[in-house]
Amino acid sequence: MSNFICPSCLSYKILTEKFISIGLPNNNDPWSSITQIIQCGNCKKNIPAHLGERWNNLTLESAREELKKYY
Ligand SMILES: [Zn+2]
Repeated sequence: MSNFICPSCLSYKILTEKFISIGLPNNNDPWSSITQIIQCGNCKKNIPAHLGERWNNLTLESAREELKKYY
């Protein structure tokens, strides 16, 4: 069972989930520290998994706020 909720469109649908190998950390690129990306089945956006599944008790509100850093 996934806890995924898309922070962008609030859909529960997952299109794909991918694991990526981490590259060199780059402070100017928030994506550089992401290892797991979930693609939303509704809006098709790539959502960092920690936001889509709200790791560490992240609230949906915070996830929505944090997603803005990635777009
Ligand atoms: Zn979505």
